[in-house]
Parts: sequence; C-alpha cells; structure tokens
Amino acid sequence: MGSRRDCTWILGLSGFRVVTIDEVESRLMIRIERRGLHRYVCSGCGRRTGRVRSSGNRTWDDLPWAAHHVTVMYTQRRIVCRACGIRTERIEFADPKARVTRRLRQQIGVDCQSMPTSHAAVRHGVSWGKARRAERAFLANWDRTRLKRQPRHIGLDEIHRGKGQRFWTVLSDVVHGEVMGLRQDRTEATATALVTQDLSARQRGAITAVCTDMHRPYLNAVGATLPRADIVFDKFHVLQHASAALDDVRRQEFFRAGAVMRAHGRGKRWLLLRRWKTVRGSKRRELQTLFAANRRLFKAYVLREQLDRLWTYKTRPGVLNFLNGWINALRWQRLPEMDRLGEFLFRHVEGIAAYCDHHVRFGVVESINTTIKAVLRRARGMRDDQMLLLKLKWATAHPIRSARDLTRFLSAQPLYSNR
Ligand SMILES: [Zn+2]
Repeated sequence: MGSRRDCTWILGLSGFRVVTIDEVESRLMIRIERRGLHRYVCSGCGRRTGRVRSSGNRTWDDLPWAAHHVTVMYTQRRIVCRACGIRTERIEFADPKARVTRRLRQQIGVDCQSMPTSHAAVRHGVSWGKARRAERAFLANWDRTRLKRQPRHIGLDEIHRGKGQRFWTVLSDVVHGEVMGLRQDRTEATATALVTQDLSARQRGAITAVCTDMHRPYLNAVGATLPRADIVFDKFHVLQHASAALDDVRRQEFFRAGAVMRAHGRGKRWLLLRRWKTVRGSKRRELQTLFAANRRLFKAYVLREQLDRLWTYKTRPGVLNFLNGWINALRWQRLPEMDRLGEFLFRHVEGIAAYCDHHVRFGVVESINTTIKAVLRRARGMRDDQMLLLKLKWATAHPIRSARDLTRFLSAQPLYSNR
C-alpha cells in the first residue's frame, strides 16, 4: 500500500509518521508513531521526560481519506514526571480523553450548527454519542477562548419551554445581540444568580441599563444586584401587553354577545394581533368588515396602533405628554380593558421613558427572542442545559459570517476571535 512516506505526508499530523495501514471493518486503521527523539511531554505540566512506565494502544477517529473512514491508532505512553508523578503523555492532535482528533472535532462541530447531530454523525462515520461529545467540546472551546464583552445594556427575559408552566430566564447582551446566560425558573433568586455568577465584577460595573419586562422578581433582583443601572421596559413587551388588552376587547365584544356576533369574531385573533401595515389585500378587507361590525373593537385597534408612536419621542416630557393624550382619548369609549392598560402604562411610565437616556436597541432584543425560539424548536428534547446554553450563544453570536471565518474554524487553530 503506497509508500509510507507518502502516507505520512497525506495524513499530515506533524511529529508523527505512518507505520502501517490496514482495513478493519471497512475503516482504514492507520497505526502511527512519533518521529525523531522519543521524549514525551507530560500532560500535567508540559515537561519532557524519557521515563516510560507503561503504554497502551489508543484510537482516535480522524478525517476520511477519499471513500474511507479513518481511525488513527497510537501507542500512548504513561510516563513518570518529576513534578506530577505518573501521567499520560500529551497528544498534540487531540484533546485529553477525546475519542476524535481535534480537526475532526472542528468539522463535526461546525456541521452540527446547520444540521441535526444524527446527520453529522453519519457524514463523518462516527456514532451519535461521539458526534454529540465532539460538538459539545467544540462549542465549549469556542466559548472559552473568545473575547469577553462588557455590554452597556443587558436584557433579562423569561422564555417558555416545554409543556406546562416551565419558565427559564435568559440573560443577554442587547448591544451585540448575544445570549450570555440561561437558568431554570423566573424567580428573584434565579435572576440574582444569573447577574452575580454569570457576569464578572468588571462586566457588572460596565452595565448602565437593564432591559426587561415589568416582572416584579426581576425588578427586585436588578435593584439589589445592580444598584447603579436603570431599568428600561422594552418596547416589545409593552406592545405585547397592549395586544393582550386588544384581544380581551375582542373576546368581550364578540364572545359574550350572542351566537351571531360570535360567528363574526371567530378565528380572527391572529389577524387582529397583526400590525395594520403588515396586513395586505383580502386580509385587510376582512379586518375592515370586522371593524364595521364593531366600532369599539376598531377604536381599541387604533389605540394599539397609536401606542407604537410612543417610542418616537426623544424626551421624557414628550413621552409623558403622548401617554396623557393617549389616555385622554380613552375617555367616554367604555373600554375597561384599555383603561386598565392605560393605568398600567402610567404606573410604569418611569421605566418606559427611560429609553430616552439609554438608547437600547429594541430591534436587537426582538431578534434575540426570535433566534432563541428557533433554537428551542430544533432542540425539543434536549436535557442538557449547559449544551442548550452553548447552542444559544452560538446561534445569537453568529461567529461564522464569511468564508474566512469558516476556514479559521476548520483549520483548528487554538485561538478564535468572535469575528
Ligand atoms: Zn508533569
């Protein structure tokens, strides 16, 4: 089988030469040995020594050679180190305890970000478990070696996952649009733990604003752990409250008003929750007939649409004026649901108007939420929280934006930057 010199060149593991190549169960089994001086590096401290205590064969799966999957076999030594005692020698091409080479790990890791783990496993000729461990090691390595950001604005938000009332809290960097932490539950203790344990003191010191929903436990946690940061209620959540009020009006007007009206209002919920500018053609006509049937619903819809303009004001008095005007327009409308919303907004006006001082990127907040939902949908049955967090970090950070980024990941250099 070819000259061994050529095989060594093709394998391309620096410092190692090919000894034999056999076919074992339709895989190429390549036995390799170190070339040159036989002094081994201690995996504990990095010192070199020639004192070998024992040795054993170990295998690593590697990149395929044309149509053949490859397993590399090497006799790994256990050495006697002056500083650490008995240790295994360091292997340059793989992580300690890993069953795949580092370059295969990179390939599997990158593939798993755009296809299911089972597909990546088949593509690279490894078992599902091996592929999953490789992916995890890949993501953990990326996360450990990338730049630690110090965002001015962070977000605390709840996400809903799985059946029943299972909530999670997500901590995110809303300046760069990246997830930073994830924990089960939405209690004050959870939020406190996220801020104090997942952020370093330096990172906490850099925060000037926290973007969140009007969820009491979060507000308490932020007040206690980040006394110098302001709370900003994000647009996304405020408008969600407005849409909920609008839906209450729909229910009140159609479902408690007899069979004829009920038939009219059935199946219109999603249509009604959409913004007017995104509704087109026949759907728009459908909305118009709905409004012709009920003026109060129309009024509530217009009020919700107007609320959007709140974020065009640049000063606190402007915001306050607008909100006052909006609440005045509610008078004589007899829409108790919208009245309640008005009171609610007025109570929280301080946090809503805080965006005048902190230019939080609300579009980023919303796009993080969309990405999180997409990842959760794909990772339906994932039990491993740490892995889920890594996947969320990767999906929101977009570390591969160009062909050059991809090359850098596949070339398995020890350091990656985020861009
Ligand atoms: Zn040592």
